[in-house]
Amino acid sequence: MKNGKDLLHRVRQCVEASPLRMTRKRERLLETLVSVDRPIPAAELRDRAGLPAGDLVTVYRTLEAFEGIGILQRIPLEDSGHLFELTEPNDHHHHFVCRECHKTERLDLCLADNLSKQARKLGFTQVTHLMEVYGLCPDCRE
Ligand SMILES: [Zn+2]
Ligand SMILES: [Zn+2]
Repeated sequence: MKNGKDLLHRVRQCVEASPLRMTRKRERLLETLVSVDRPIPAAELRDRAGLPAGDLVTVYRTLEAFEGIGILQRIPLEDSGHLFELTEPNDHHHHFVCRECHKTERLDLCLADNLSKQARKLGFTQVTHLMEVYGLCPDCRE
């Protein structure tokens, strides 16, 4: 994976500059997210980080905390649940998501500039947006 070390360094700095306390579990989850380098569900993250089954709530709280300081993005699935992806601080991506195997590909497209211009015109502030595209990947097509 390219730039994994740098990304880990930058997201760590972001955590240190925030009111979040860095615990061993959080550190482990952060490192796992960087090494996996793709959006994954919370339970898979817990398993890959080697945390016990009972830690799922801790994992969700940690993900929420990371999301709150802008280093993590939540990708809603079509049916229910989410995938979680570590991002550069305050960055985000859009994705193609396979509705069968939940494999994702990054979409090279973001309408943020256009949207914030329109939002400003309408007097909206604190604007965020979501756009994920769902379909079947080549492996699941048949
Ligand atoms: Zn698939
Ligand atoms: Zn966007």
